[in-house]
Amino acid sequence: MAVDTLCSPLGPPACEKDAKALQFIEEMTRNADAVQESVLSEILTRNAQTEYLRLYNLGGATDRESFKSKIPMVTYEDLQPIIQRIANGDRSPILSAHPISEFLTSSGTSAGERKLMPTIREELDRRQLLYSLLMPVMNLYMPGLDKGKGLYFLFVKSETKTPGGLMARPVLTSYYKSDHFKTRAFDPYNVYTSPNEAILCPDSFQSMYTQMLCGLYEREQVLRLGAIFASGLLRAIRFLQLNWRELAQDIRTGTLNPKISDPDIRGCMARVLRPNPKLSDFIESECVKDNWERIITRIWPNTKYLEVIVTGAMAQYIPTLDYYSGGLPKVCTMYASSECYFGLNLNPMCKPSEVSYTIMPNMAYFEFLPHDPKSPNGASKDKLVDLVNVEVGKEYELVITTYAGLCRYRVGDILQVTGFHNSAPHFRFVRRQNVLLSIDSDKTDEAELQSAVENASKLLKDFNTTVVEYTSYADTNTIPGHYVIYWELLVKDSGNSPTNDVLEQCCLAMENTLNSVYRQGRVECNSIGPLEIRVVKNGTFEELMDYAISRGASINQYKVPRCVSFTPIMELLDSRVLSTHFSQSLPHWTPERRR
Ligand code: AMP
Repeated sequence: MAVDTLCSPLGPPACEKDAKALQFIEEMTRNADAVQESVLSEILTRNAQTEYLRLYNLGGATDRESFKSKIPMVTYEDLQPIIQRIANGDRSPILSAHPISEFLTSSGTSAGERKLMPTIREELDRRQLLYSLLMPVMNLYMPGLDKGKGLYFLFVKSETKTPGGLMARPVLTSYYKSDHFKTRAFDPYNVYTSPNEAILCPDSFQSMYTQMLCGLYEREQVLRLGAIFASGLLRAIRFLQLNWRELAQDIRTGTLNPKISDPDIRGCMARVLRPNPKLSDFIESECVKDNWERIITRIWPNTKYLEVIVTGAMAQYIPTLDYYSGGLPKVCTMYASSECYFGLNLNPMCKPSEVSYTIMPNMAYFEFLPHDPKSPNGASKDKLVDLVNVEVGKEYELVITTYAGLCRYRVGDILQVTGFHNSAPHFRFVRRQNVLLSIDSDKTDEAELQSAVENASKLLKDFNTTVVEYTSYADTNTIPGHYVIYWELLVKDSGNSPTNDVLEQCCLAMENTLNSVYRQGRVECNSIGPLEIRVVKNGTFEELMDYAISRGASINQYKVPRCVSFTPIMELLDSRVLSTHFSQSLPHWTPERRR
């Protein structure tokens, strides 16, 4: 066996199907450059007559050199007018020769709204293919997963239609509602406790309640617990904290809580529910305790690992996951986006800090923009580098060309090369560019925070008060986490300083200015808690500067950090807090109407 061949101390593939999947990974990664060349050629051949490629006079060329010399690198904003035309109903082949089947709504936003990513029907097969590789890799490291089930908290989100009648919804909602997921063949290595009816219920409370109830019934069978993001799994634990009495009651009586009104769920649960007083007693005895440390392994004693993304912004949740699970392994299996699914982790049992993803060369054509943190938009003037030519240790921004017609599109993710599997590199996810604050899938940048503060501070005018300085913090000590904004105020008339009521309204005004993914998280998903303003003493931000200078910052170049997380700075800020204020209502959010 070649040194680089996928193998683990545990030996051979678990079954024939796994052997084929692992063989596929070997072939793709061994021939990464040739696969990339043929992917590009296939995309350019089929899309040769699209308006977009004709615009750049590619003249039917399908080779790398012509492509690189003629097609520019673009951002979403560059493509927005074209995307809007498609959304408005233009069915001509603009980006892709294959009809655009729907839009996938990214958690990345543009002008406050989710970005619309065009996709084509066959992309579903490509995504399915990547999913089909995950368990064969996992089975190499963790035998016996066919002897039990996975408790995965999976959810759909609301969907809308564009003016031209195309569906617009998140990629996972699209996948869970597809036949690929709904009518998947039985696979002993991929049995979930959650019924499809619960996963597909659009009401997040009813969906979570039912998934938790099923997970509790089958607590002995559960071998792995997961959600897409770490924040989602913690929300499930919080849900259990808030609802265990009602869940235990249902288990005791074998009846379903009347709050669960979805007829599909009620129909399927009627077949599952049966009275089990012993289990109900057990759940009550565990949940009534004040100490919830290791609650996951207490309730689901056979859990071998947690499957959640803990890379990128999600790393902030690792200590809390460890607390609730007694340090169970945290497995990050894949790296994907609405634009395209990228790759998988070939060493899933590694520590979170060592997670690397191997990009699968068959998914799209990948290029890498050397990342220069000193340049204004992070891009270096160097040329784009091909997948197999990236260098270990260097950082790059990911640029993709997809079957659905995105050409040389900047994803905005910064990746660092950590090594190679055969000739395919693997990457550590470093961060997403320009993200200041993130609790769940929301991403707030500096400009968005600035306009939120500006908008909210208008309410202070009547009080002759201004915001002198501000910074922010993603507080994940509460579940769900929430944004904290530290404000230093200049109150010009101390007899008329802003009241608690006004500062609470400022919290809401800020929330109403933040982007739609944030507001959806607050309203529909309940994945983000109310925004908090902490008013700090006058002079606090000067102290912050003194502190930074004492640690070597240049006095001329010092800028107030718009987001903080470093403990000594947090301690300084928190020790100067005069008052705290929370948003008292939900911000405005309705499923977006796409103009
Ligand atoms: P979306 O388009 O909303 O699906 O978001 C996709 C983005 O989520 C990616 O571009 C990354 O920034 C982030 N993401 C996806 N998978 C991972 C992962 N495994 N680790 C860290 N960040 C990820």
